[in-house]
Amino acid sequence: MSARVPVLIVGGGPVGLALAGELGWRGVSCLLIEKTDGTIEQPKMDLVGIRTMEFCRRWGILDWVRDAPYPLDYPQDCVYLTALNGYELGRERFPGRGFEQCPPESPQKRERVPQDMFDPILRRFAQRSPHVSLRYNCEFISFSETTDGVRAQVRDTVSGAAETIEADYMVGTDGGSSAVREQLGIGMSGTPALTYTTNVMFRCANFPELHDKGKGYRFIFIGPEGTWLTIVSINGGDRFRMSIVGSPQKINHGEDDIRTALRRAMGHDFNYEILSVMRWVRRELVADRYGAGRVFIAGDAAHLMSPTGGFGMNTGIGDAVDLGWKLEAAIKGWGGPELLASYDTERRPVGLRNVAEASRNLRRMLSTRERLPGPEIFQPGAANDDARKDYGDWFAAIMRHEWFANGVMLGYRYDHSPIVMPDGTPAPPDVSHPYTQSARPGSRAPHVWLADGRSTLDLFGRGFTLLRLGPNAPGVEHIERAAADRSTPLTTVALAKPETLAAYERRLVLVRPDGHVAWRADAEPADAGALIDMVRGQSNEVRQQQLGQRT
Ligand SMILES: Cc1cc2nc3c(=O)[nH]c(=O)nc-3n(C[C@H](O)[C@H](O)[C@H](O)COP(=O)(O)OP(=O)(O)OC[C@H]3O[C@@H](n4cnc5c(N)ncnc54)[C@H](O)[C@@H]3O)c2cc1C
Repeated sequence: MSARVPVLIVGGGPVGLALAGELGWRGVSCLLIEKTDGTIEQPKMDLVGIRTMEFCRRWGILDWVRDAPYPLDYPQDCVYLTALNGYELGRERFPGRGFEQCPPESPQKRERVPQDMFDPILRRFAQRSPHVSLRYNCEFISFSETTDGVRAQVRDTVSGAAETIEADYMVGTDGGSSAVREQLGIGMSGTPALTYTTNVMFRCANFPELHDKGKGYRFIFIGPEGTWLTIVSINGGDRFRMSIVGSPQKINHGEDDIRTALRRAMGHDFNYEILSVMRWVRRELVADRYGAGRVFIAGDAAHLMSPTGGFGMNTGIGDAVDLGWKLEAAIKGWGGPELLASYDTERRPVGLRNVAEASRNLRRMLSTRERLPGPEIFQPGAANDDARKDYGDWFAAIMRHEWFANGVMLGYRYDHSPIVMPDGTPAPPDVSHPYTQSARPGSRAPHVWLADGRSTLDLFGRGFTLLRLGPNAPGVEHIERAAADRSTPLTTVALAKPETLAAYERRLVLVRPDGHVAWRADAEPADAGALIDMVRGQSNEVRQQQLGQRT
């Protein structure tokens, strides 16, 4: 029997590692167990989204991401083509990650850092904290819940030794076939098989010299049957991932199919080395609940989506950040009984939203199967160049929805959360592009540059932040006293800059530890204690009253 830990995390993929790091950053002790030795056989994710980068900023690990070995100048172009030695139909140009600019709505930008570079960064982040223990080669087998905790049975995968670990809370970040989710008896709803896809990692040192399409991040191949294959640059160098996209029909591509596909993509034979093959099913599934009692699920254990858009891990890291401060509050004693329950209320709708958008992106990529290219697209001649341009322009316009998606990454909201006080303003449309910042309660608090060079986002994180905005902002002593009386961490910050008031639209704004707006108004509420009780999950009577007054 091991000593009891406050939080046991099952699964050391990117989401488990991010949760361990977030908890450690908050001073909450946790133990992460991972059944493998941590080696990544085939990297899956490679897009670190803009919101995840904002979290990396808060965690103080931006330099590590910047210094990842993916070259800063490797062009990120997405190219639509018949073959590498065939016709280019269209192209969306993007600079190397070192040259992309931050958009006005964020102090950060997305990054291209594949999983075999990003997981070690998250692992280093987790290990930086003395509160985090990582145990590899340790498999979760089963658990039981007691009145005040969880008892997990685990097994050392090297020695075979069995052990019991006791914890106050347990989080399953154990991926798509989550044993934690299964043992909780939680089902998943949606579409179990969108495509049967085969991913092939291959090495080819002189790849860009074998064709005239130049360096690019993603090549999308369109044949007479529509989109059938993609090749992405995994490390901005000699490693690539080919995906035979497939269809909902079950298929098992063998080595001959793989070699035929590579030859067809290049337009002729070439030298390469196959590093690994991963056959996988593209799914559109969300767990029916995100936990039960003292056990929660996050990441792929809670939602499985098409990689189109790069939302999977990024959504999971959003789960981890939402859960992190709530676990801290529960363990340190200032969180009320409704706080951890709000994890499901807040994050499940985000899972449903992002899973649906990922499937829309898949349909966009496969729209060429609905509007098949005519034979002229594949035939030489200047007359056919016009047809190629028309077809390519049509497809490029469709694909822009996937490439420009800050609204998806930054615009998720907790509109119906029991710990967010609605202010009666109408919900802005939820669009992927362009993204318009909003300080409406439930939204990510807007980014504004401060006079000292920091972002407003740099003010948020450890506890609640109460913003007093503009000249002559009202006093906040009642809110401060109510928070202190309830041991709820709160820092008040006064910002006179007019741009901040313009972005936040109210003179008092209460921002949660995860950087989402909990409440805003132009004066303190009549009952500051009731407000603090609502945001810490103690009682949401005041929210019900406010909603009742509006109906
Ligand atoms: C081709 C492809 C490309 C993708 N690209 C992107 C992208 O660009 N951006 C993005 O955000 N997402 C992307 N995704 C999705 C992303 O990879 C996943 O969403 C992400 O890996 C999920 O992380 P996770 O930690 O939840 O689960 P996983 O990465 O599946 O990790 C789960 C971990 O739990 C461990 N585990 C399982 N069972 C047990 C047990 N019983 N005991 C102990 N440990 C256990 C596993 O060994 C594993 O290490 C892509 C996916 C694919 C397939």
